[in-house]
Amino acid sequence: MAESQHHRIVIIGGGCAGITVAASLKRRDADLDIAIVEPSDEHYYQPAFTLVGAGTYKLASTRRAENNLIPDGVKRVKDSAVSFDPDNKSVGLASGGSLGYEYLVVCPGLQLNWSAVDGLSEALGSGGVCSNYSADTVEYTWECIKSLKAGSTVLFTQPAMPIKCPGAPQKIAYLASDHLRKHRLLESCHVHFLPQGPAMFSVPFFAAALDKVAARYGIDVHFQHNLASVNADAKQATFNVVGGDNEGTSVSLDYDMIHVTPPQGPPDFVKGSPLANEAGWIEADQNTMQHPRYENVFSLGDVCSTPNSKTAAAIRKQAPVVVRNLMHLIEASEVEKGYDGYASCPLTTAYGKVMMAEFVYGGKVTPTFPVDPRKERRSYWWIKKTGLPHMYWDYMLKGHEWFKGHDTDYVEPAA
Ligand SMILES: Cc1cc2nc3c(=O)[nH]c(=O)nc-3n(C[C@H](O)[C@H](O)[C@H](O)COP(=O)(O)OP(=O)(O)OC[C@H]3O[C@@H](n4cnc5c(N)ncnc54)[C@H](O)[C@@H]3O)c2cc1C
Repeated sequence: MAESQHHRIVIIGGGCAGITVAASLKRRDADLDIAIVEPSDEHYYQPAFTLVGAGTYKLASTRRAENNLIPDGVKRVKDSAVSFDPDNKSVGLASGGSLGYEYLVVCPGLQLNWSAVDGLSEALGSGGVCSNYSADTVEYTWECIKSLKAGSTVLFTQPAMPIKCPGAPQKIAYLASDHLRKHRLLESCHVHFLPQGPAMFSVPFFAAALDKVAARYGIDVHFQHNLASVNADAKQATFNVVGGDNEGTSVSLDYDMIHVTPPQGPPDFVKGSPLANEAGWIEADQNTMQHPRYENVFSLGDVCSTPNSKTAAAIRKQAPVVVRNLMHLIEASEVEKGYDGYASCPLTTAYGKVMMAEFVYGGKVTPTFPVDPRKERRSYWWIKKTGLPHMYWDYMLKGHEWFKGHDTDYVEPAA
């Protein structure tokens, strides 16, 4: 029979955000009574999925057993949250029970809406239809890239924002193009990038640099094209044109390979809950990460309403703010406005080369290192492939909170 339990702090989701917050809290106070609700037995380092899809990283190296990541002294509740009752400080569980709390941290990530594209769920994983957005399909991306031949047509899609890692749809387009270049196939192949939005990137400084990268590979960019359907039998994808001169029309393209970034949104159980905003995301102050109506509730990571770029890098800077503010509440002091919207996106522009986009709210460029961030660097490739995974598993998920600061006084060099 389902039970009801109570913990001082309950964390919903044991992904990047949940484990980081739990570990930091335990470092600060080993006696804190904390529970993490997490249904999955496997935890993935998703930022390396781009490299797995490009055949330069093993999927197995992105995977760890969830139980091995739960910090000592934290109770794992192997269940799914299904509802929130913040007036009674309680969370409903799929098993039928409930969990009471004094403080709640909500971070179950976002939902991938594969079925929002007609024919996609059926087509995915065979016939050249692949995606880096799932552990189940990411290895197939590399299968598809490897099997491209002279004259192949390759499509890369990007849905409406917000999505997790907004740079990921184009990162794999550059790596696939570089693979084709190395095999002397690029000139005869037709590579298309079709984002729903009107620019390569939300930050104009990086968008201008990425226009040049796409042009260098001869990638045909079609802005404001939104994938509507995939016809696996005909190997044809149809896009709705959502802006520009041809707005309201649709375009169909044949493909040999199509890399799909699925439409994304808040999880169903979050949408419409008392903690969600109108768009369905968990409401949070963009600087304190605290819920505006329930002061004992915090949110961070992909599920959160704050207008930062949804990345693990953002969580690296959000988690210490959530942790400090929880401690402030416990000690009856003022919460702090510690998060400035920082996010980072290591843009893999070629095998061995990364452009490191780092920025805060308002699209202000804020690099960690004092060099022109538009320059594609080999050192950043090392950081992406070796440094960041190490930092994730051995530092961030272990609750360390100190990271080198980003430069908020940086002045962008002229074009
Ligand atoms: C292809 C790809 C490339 C990326 N590249 C980068 C990159 O280069 N740099 C970067 O910083 N970020 C990158 N990211 C984004 C990064 O991985 C995410 O932003 C980050 O993992 C989000 O962390 P989270 O804790 O919010 O969600 P997740 O890590 O997704 O964890 C959510 C957890 O909640 C659990 N959960 C779900 N539903 C429930 C429920 N009902 N109850 C309880 N628990 C639940 C899930 O099982 C999961 O364990 C990339 C992501 C992808 C897919």
